[in-house]
Amino acid sequence: MTHDLLIVGAGPAGISTAVEARDAGLPPSRIVVLEKGPLHSYAIRKFYPDEKRVDAVYKGIPAVCEGRVCIVDGTKQQTLDFIDQTIKQWEVDVRYDEGVDSIARMDDGCFEVRTPKATYVARVVVVAIGILGKPNVPDYKIPRNELRGRVHFDVTSEKLQGERALVMGGGDSAADFAHYLVSKGFHVDLSYRKAELSRMNQINLADMQGIAAAGGLEFLMPTDVTRLEVDSGRPRAVFAQIDPRTYDHVVYALGGSTPAGFLQSTGIDLKGGEPTLGEGGQTNVRGLFLAGDLTVGKKGGSIISAFNSGVFTMRVILREQLLGEATPAVARAP
Ligand SMILES: Cc1cc2nc3c(=O)[nH]c(=O)nc-3n(C[C@H](O)[C@H](O)[C@H](O)COP(=O)(O)OP(=O)(O)OC[C@H]3O[C@@H](n4cnc5c(N)ncnc54)[C@H](O)[C@@H]3O)c2cc1C
Repeated sequence: MTHDLLIVGAGPAGISTAVEARDAGLPPSRIVVLEKGPLHSYAIRKFYPDEKRVDAVYKGIPAVCEGRVCIVDGTKQQTLDFIDQTIKQWEVDVRYDEGVDSIARMDDGCFEVRTPKATYVARVVVVAIGILGKPNVPDYKIPRNELRGRVHFDVTSEKLQGERALVMGGGDSAADFAHYLVSKGFHVDLSYRKAELSRMNQINLADMQGIAAAGGLEFLMPTDVTRLEVDSGRPRAVFAQIDPRTYDHVVYALGGSTPAGFLQSTGIDLKGGEPTLGEGGQTNVRGLFLAGDLTVGKKGGSIISAFNSGVFTMRVILREQLLGEATPAVARAP
């Protein structure tokens, strides 16, 4: 069966793209969303600490929603419940545990999309896989075997126990991780290479300062960790500016990066490691689009910017009549 629209990734951008297509009149059977994880919004589930406050205004991006899907301030669970409800309400067909391995344009202009379970054919493909699948790592080698269970890139994958933790990074993710660890009884050191936390939003900044004033957190700024050593099975951070310190856990919050290899394998042109995109995330391959965090570069995106990107992508797909005969004429509400 040929789908009109195949979306890769069931995060905010992928779900919003599907909803906009449904809103434009495309029936559920013509759209499929392939998700690598066992549940939708898998990056949010993994990288957001439980009980995290989800800000509608994130990284200074205004909370102005252009399409059918929108969030307000809430918690991680409320955000996930809302996306769950949205998938049901709009009858979006999401196939789980179907990580896409390859996308190839065929001679007839359609795309062949392969997962370990199946091969799909679609007229238009929107890749909305985000950047969190590939968290940034430091440029020194982490002794991962000796420090198994002690070095992390999120705070949900393993149960963290102990008294002292080091969080590396100066953005909002670092604040989320630090807040979570303090709430679990850790004393946290926050190491950032700059003297000011200029990338953190005002709420997180005030939160960090409040926790520091209460004695739960120490700012190590500016500091650079030059290497991680093993101290009786625990990580010992060696800093360029201050004496080494030993922790129960080290958590990196260094952001993610564009999956350049995957994009290039689909024929998408990259410049300086970033895709070159036209309006609505159109790539140089006709009918192949990017949406969400993949389209915003190093400055990063938000849930609402990912929702909006799905709206802009669908506008171009409809305007260019890329869905062929299936292009719907009548808008339809569920
Ligand atoms: C710690 C942290 C806190 C944040 N807090 C906030 C906040 O409070 N407010 C806010 O607005 N934003 C926040 N953000 C940013 C926000 O989460 C992202 O901007 C948003 O999730 C991007 O949506 P997306 O759909 O582009 O990508 P993602 O959310 O990354 O979703 C991508 C989806 O694609 C799937 N996928 C990946 N590879 C494949 C593949 N090969 N095949 C199929 N599926 C695949 C993933 O499993 C995932 O479900 C935060 C980010 C982090 C890291």
